[in-house]
Amino acid sequence: MTARILVVDDLAANTKLLEVRLTAEYFEVIVANNGVDALQICRAGRCDIVLLDAMMPGIDGFEVCRRLKADRLTAHLPVIIITALDEARDRVRGLEAGADDFLTKPVDEMALLARVRSLTRLKVFMDELRSRAQASNKIGTLELLQLSADREALGGHILLVDDRPSSSERVAAALSEHHKIDTVAGITEAQHNLGAQDYDLVIVALSVRLFDPLRLCSQIRAMEKTRQTPILLIAETEDRARVLRGLEMGVNDYLMRPLDRNELRARVRTQLRRKYYTESLRESMQATIEMAVIDPLTGLNNRRYMESQLGSVLQKAETRRRPVSLMILDIDHFKRVNDTYGHGAGDDVLKGFAQRVRQVIRAVDLMCRLGGEEFVILMPDTDIDYAATIAERVRSSVEGSPFPVEGGRNLPITVSIGLADNSASAAPEEILKRADIALYRSKTNGRNQVTKAAA
Ligand code: GH3
Ligand code: MG
Ligand code: MG
Repeated sequence: MTARILVVDDLAANTKLLEVRLTAEYFEVIVANNGVDALQICRAGRCDIVLLDAMMPGIDGFEVCRRLKADRLTAHLPVIIITALDEARDRVRGLEAGADDFLTKPVDEMALLARVRSLTRLKVFMDELRSRAQASNKIGTLELLQLSADREALGGHILLVDDRPSSSERVAAALSEHHKIDTVAGITEAQHNLGAQDYDLVIVALSVRLFDPLRLCSQIRAMEKTRQTPILLIAETEDRARVLRGLEMGVNDYLMRPLDRNELRARVRTQLRRKYYTESLRESMQATIEMAVIDPLTGLNNRRYMESQLGSVLQKAETRRRPVSLMILDIDHFKRVNDTYGHGAGDDVLKGFAQRVRQVIRAVDLMCRLGGEEFVILMPDTDIDYAATIAERVRSSVEGSPFPVEGGRNLPITVSIGLADNSASAAPEEILKRADIALYRSKTNGRNQVTKAAA
């Protein structure tokens, strides 16, 4: 498994060092020596992971991280901030800026590779889910994914395996404010708890004497129930070889004694956040599939899907102060098609209509069949005047040429359209209602026309 890693540092000696180590492990390395270049490379989609020096002239690492996390194009990129040794304050700052992990200088090779590997695994998994989501239903799911990433990583249920009360009490004290901790000392007890409870994280002290703690880790990885449960090791400096063994068998991260309270909290938080994120990705994928969001006749998304997306799209637009427009389309005198040429011909018109309209709207516009011969098109980042030009393009393309139906006939069809935007209200029902009133006016004024909702 390989990845493209962007190394950002203002000192060439530092970037060189990291580049040599990462290249030796077959990672592809891109170098930037200031924040502006780094942001540009990320926005262009040229890297998978960012290793970011905290202290740089100009835009420092914390600010680069904040900007990456605030931008939709780059928010999903894992960022590791590299701070000077013993600056606990900087680590906390890094995590506040949204960093996924941090390393201290001088960068330890084992720590570097452990963290880069674990983020690579995660990134590959996320990209896979993201592209599946994208292929199956365009923008809506992406919005959902973004929302789920914001969930705060608190309230975890953690199993702590440690047979030294002096040590386990300190760990529990650091974490119990935000999480529920169960402490066990023996392997039987650990196995029993893992079977009986659902843990979000297992912390294992390598100093345990009563049994081999790495054997427990391997059992956790082997059991179906806990295969995905993150494991964090607590190690002594002389444990390096065993930490490496642990990382190879799927331990997610480790901490060295003496324990830094902030680092412990941060690493726990990172593991929990990843677990919650991957869980909610899986759930939302599952929910999307189960909701049966596609209308079988036209292949468009259905009313249910529209309803599930509209609220969050409008809410996002409101926080970002962006316009959103929506049009409702209703085919004129469609009943006559059915009555004159049969239901089959009516179905052919609906299919042809969906296909034609889809060709003249933009890829970002979400078109759904509301039911019958009524459709909705949701247009993000679009004010009502621009929406009116799109609507007019739709109207004239429908009128432009007749629709082929069964039996070799071609039927002339027209459509009436009502438009509304989010300038007056961001409530979904309100916007739908205003578009519907505008549509009604298109109908009563003679059909085959576009009407904007009154401001
Ligand atoms: P208006 O211009 O006022 O919109 O008139 P209209 O005839 O288009 O509107 P009305 O709502 O009276 O009729 C809609 C028709 O659409 C009635 C219904 O039988 C038909 N219809 C609804 N769903 C389907 C479908 O899936 N296939 C077919 N063939 N017809 C459908
Ligand atoms: Mg109708
Ligand atoms: Mg109609």
